[in-house]
Amino acid sequence: MSDVTVAVKDTKPTVDGVMVDVHGVHKSFGPLEVLRGVDLRVRAGEVTVILGPSGSGKSTLLRTINHLEKVNRGWISIDGELIGYRRSGGKLHELKEKEVLKQRTHIGFVFQNFNLFPHLTVLENLVEAPVSALRRPRKEAEETARRLLDRVGLADKTDAYPRQLSGGQQQRVAIARALALEPKVLLFDEPTSALDPELVGEVLDVIKDLARTGTTMIVVSHEIGFAREVADTVVFMDGGVVVEQGSPSAVLDAPQHERTRAFLSKVL
Ligand code: ADP
Ligand code: MG
Repeated sequence: MSDVTVAVKDTKPTVDGVMVDVHGVHKSFGPLEVLRGVDLRVRAGEVTVILGPSGSGKSTLLRTINHLEKVNRGWISIDGELIGYRRSGGKLHELKEKEVLKQRTHIGFVFQNFNLFPHLTVLENLVEAPVSALRRPRKEAEETARRLLDRVGLADKTDAYPRQLSGGQQQRVAIARALALEPKVLLFDEPTSALDPELVGEVLDVIKDLARTGTTMIVVSHEIGFAREVADTVVFMDGGVVVEQGSPSAVLDAPQHERTRAFLSKVL
């Protein structure tokens, strides 16, 4: 990480190989301070797994990264571009909704509960955003969709509706749908926690495959074996801050903080 320089004064970071840069982020809901100064850097092609107790701010952090939640303080950039704001005249100006939507097309989001469009077929779920948001020709979007469905092992489900699929299959469709926009980063919020135990593996296998091919990802997950296998960095959050971060073996096998040890003793 030593080759990273950040020009804080300019708010716009000078980045070298950093895809996601979360800098001093604070977020409150009314009196409740949920993020209390979060710093996080994810290098291009790397996988960060975030662990932490319920209520520690993990989902809120992911939501600030694609500007579903506005930060109260700090900033976030992706591939060197500020999210939700632009700088002009030494000040930050919030982007218009349309510009935020455009930025969001570069940030794939996979939810706990899949969030597929129930009235669209699997293929249409993947084609919708590239055609409507990126103005891709339909034929090209369909070809990409078929290729991605093949990649997640669902080539035979193109014409099915989400309700006809298992949870594991739906989540694999959701991952393919996120990939259809060729995002710079993929965010996963507990992608397997709504699944029956026997369906967890097939979804983790897809995420592992993405990790091998250099997709930049931030995964909130309590699957410790998975974190050990795919994470470049494991981050432990508690009480709205990053308590510690490091390699999987450093954080999982030799945690430095009592709070991390207490948490791991419950999930391991
Ligand atoms: P985690 O994902 O780690 O379980 P969350 O980010 O979902 O944590 O939530 C952190 C805290 O913020 C919780 O106390 C939650 O109730 C609160 N919170 C999250 N979103 C909102 C919201 N939109 N309005 C009010 N409180 C919220
Ligand atoms: Mg959450």
